Amino acid sequence: MRILRGLVLTLASLSLLPFGFAQKSSLHGIEVNDMDRKVQPCDDFFEYANGAWRANNPIPPSMTRWSRRWQAGENAKDRLKDILEAASSEQNAAKGSTEQVIGDYYAACMDESRVNARGMDPIKPWFRKIDAARDMASLQEVMAELHDIIVNAPFAFGSQPDPHRPSWVLADVGASGLSLPDRDYYLKPEPRFKEAREKYAAHVAAMLKLAGFDQKSADAGAQTVMGMETKLAQASLDNVELRDPAATDHNTTFSQLREMAPHVNWEGYFKHKGIPTDVDMNVDQPKFMQEIDRQVQQAPLADWKVYLQWQLLNSVAGSLSKPFVEQNFAFYGAYLAGAKEMKPRWKRCAEEEDQLLGEALGKKYVEKYFPPEAKARMQEMVRNLLAAMREDILSRPWMSDDTKEKAMAKIATFNPKIGYPDKWKDYSQLEIRRDAYFEDMIAGRKFVEKDDRDLIGKTVDRGRWGMTPPTSDAYYNPLLNEIVFPAGILQPPAFDMNAVDAVNYGAIGVVIGHEISHGFDDEGAQFDFLGRLRNWWTEKDLKDFQARGACVADQFDNYFIEKDIHHNGKLVLGESIGDLGGAKIAYLAYQKSLEGKPRPADIDGFTPEQQFFIAWGQFRGDEIRPEAARLMVQSDPHPIAKYRVIGPVSNLPEFQKAFSCKADAAMVRPEGKRCEVW
Ligand SMILES: [Zn+2]
Repeated sequence: MRILRGLVLTLASLSLLPFGFAQKSSLHGIEVNDMDRKVQPCDDFFEYANGAWRANNPIPPSMTRWSRRWQAGENAKDRLKDILEAASSEQNAAKGSTEQVIGDYYAACMDESRVNARGMDPIKPWFRKIDAARDMASLQEVMAELHDIIVNAPFAFGSQPDPHRPSWVLADVGASGLSLPDRDYYLKPEPRFKEAREKYAAHVAAMLKLAGFDQKSADAGAQTVMGMETKLAQASLDNVELRDPAATDHNTTFSQLREMAPHVNWEGYFKHKGIPTDVDMNVDQPKFMQEIDRQVQQAPLADWKVYLQWQLLNSVAGSLSKPFVEQNFAFYGAYLAGAKEMKPRWKRCAEEEDQLLGEALGKKYVEKYFPPEAKARMQEMVRNLLAAMREDILSRPWMSDDTKEKAMAKIATFNPKIGYPDKWKDYSQLEIRRDAYFEDMIAGRKFVEKDDRDLIGKTVDRGRWGMTPPTSDAYYNPLLNEIVFPAGILQPPAFDMNAVDAVNYGAIGVVIGHEISHGFDDEGAQFDFLGRLRNWWTEKDLKDFQARGACVADQFDNYFIEKDIHHNGKLVLGESIGDLGGAKIAYLAYQKSLEGKPRPADIDGFTPEQQFFIAWGQFRGDEIRPEAARLMVQSDPHPIAKYRVIGPVSNLPEFQKAFSCKADAAMVRPEGKRCEVW
C-alpha cells in the first residue's frame, strides 16, 4: 500500500508492551547502568535517563541514530538473515513457494560479482527506450511504464481511501519527482541548503557520467535536472502545508484533470494503467499538475529525456553495480544523513526484500519470532490505553458534552491491529530467479505497484497492512481509524515480558498512547468516527483545542539542535501532541492498573512512577549524528529523540511530582507556559 503523504502517522520509534500480567520477583525494572546519575533528573532528564548508554555505545559507522531500540531493530534483521539464508539454501523449494521466492531473491541479490559484472547493462534497455522517443507523446508512454516499476516522476498514481467515504478506494494523483528530501531544499537561501544543492548537482552529474554520459553532457544534464526539479519544487506545497488534510483534498473528474494538465496524455495513461476514466479520483496538488503541464508544453524533449533517465537511475541505483551503489551512498547516506559507511550487503538485501516481498518474509518471521501470547497481551494493553483515553477526554473541562460524545464515538470505532495480517498476500505467481537480481527487483516492484493499483475503484479492504510484520515501528491511519503495531516492535526494549508494568507502560504503553493520540492530534482530529474528513467539533471547542496545540508548537519552535537551527513547531505538532497525550494516558492507564492492588515495591531505589518516566527516556532516547538531526528538523514531522523525551515530561505535573522537581527547574515548564492538550 502506498503510504499516504501526511495521512499515515507513524510512531517512528515505538514499542508495545503487555500489561496487566502478574509481577514476579524476577521481573526487572529500568536499566540502571544506562543512566547518568551525575546529572539531576530535574535539570536534564534525557541525559539522566540514558546518558551512560549513549556514552558507552557509540553510533556504529553504518547507522545515523543509535539506542537500545535501534539496536533491537538491527537485531531483527539478523533474524531475517537467518530466515533468508535457510530459504536460499533450500534446494528443492517448489516454484512459487515462499521459500523459493524469498530464497532465490536473496541468493540473486547476494551474488555481488554477477551484479558488478553486469554494470549498468540492466538499465540500458530503459535508457534506449527513453532515447528513442520521437516526441513528448511517445516519451509519455515510457513514463507510464516507468510508473509500473515505481519510478514515480514527475507525479505518482496510486490508491487512497476516499476522505469523504473512506469505505471506498479512489485513484490518487500525487506530487512526486523531486530527489532532494523536500521542496525547501531547492528553495531556501541558507548556506546549508545552497551547499546541498551544489552537492546534489555534482551527484547527479557523477551518476550520469557513470551511466555513460561524457563530462560535458553529464554537467549539462545535472543543470537541466536541477532546473526542472526546482520549478516543480516551487509549485509544491511545503511540508507544513502537507500536514493539512484539506490542502490535498481535491475530488477531481477526468475532464477536470484534463483541464488541469491538457498536455499530458491522460487517456493514454489511464489506458496503460487499466483504469477507467470515470474512476473516482483525488488530485493532491492541482498547482503542481499545472506546472507539470507547463513543462510538458515548454521544456525541450531532450530535457525531459535526461530528467527521466536521472529519475530511473536514482530510483534503482542501489540495485546496480558497485560504482552506482557507492556514489548513491556518498550523497544520500553519507552527505545528507551522516553515515560513515554502508550497511553490509546482506542487510541491504534483507531490507529490500522486506520492502518488496514483505509479507512473504514477514510470514516466516512471525512463525518463528512472534509468540501468540504477545498478541493477547498487546490487545489487553490497547484496551487499557483506550479506556484511559476515554476517561481523560471525559474529564477535560474545556470540552463540551456535545464534542465529548463525538470523541467517544471515535474511540469506539478504533481498530487495533497487532502483529501481522490475518490474510497474507499471494506471491506464488511472482517470477523470481536466482541468477537475475535486477529483473527480480523489477518484478518485486511491479508486484507492489499492481497490488496497490488493483485496489482502486473498489470497497476498502480493512485487512490490509501498511507496514510489514518485521517493522520496528507503528502507525495510525485516520481514514481507517486504525492503530497498527507490527510484530517487529513487540520486543524489548519496547515490549518485554520480563519487565515490570511500570517499565512496559513507560515504553510500549506510551507508544500505544501516542498512536491513539494521533486520532486526536491537530490532523487526526479533523477525521470523524468513520474516518471522514468532516468537522465534529463545536466552534468553541475547536478554538480551545487549537490554542492548546499552539502552545505545543511554540514549545518546539524553541528547541534548538544548533545555534541557528531549531524545530519547526507546526511541522512536529502532530507527533508532539501524540507524545504528550501518549505519556499522559499511559501514565493514567498505569495508575488505573494499580487500583485495588498493593503498591509495587521500589526497585533500585526508584519509585514505580520514576521507573515509568525513566523507561520512556530509555526507550525513546537515542544519539543522533548532526547531519541526521539537520535532516530531521527540516523534513521529518518527528522531533529528535532528546526533545521527544524532555518535551512531554516538562509539561506533566506527574513528572514534576515523581522527581520532586522545584517549580523553577529546567525540566518544569513555568506555570502559564505549560501545555496540556489531552
Ligand atoms: Zn507518530
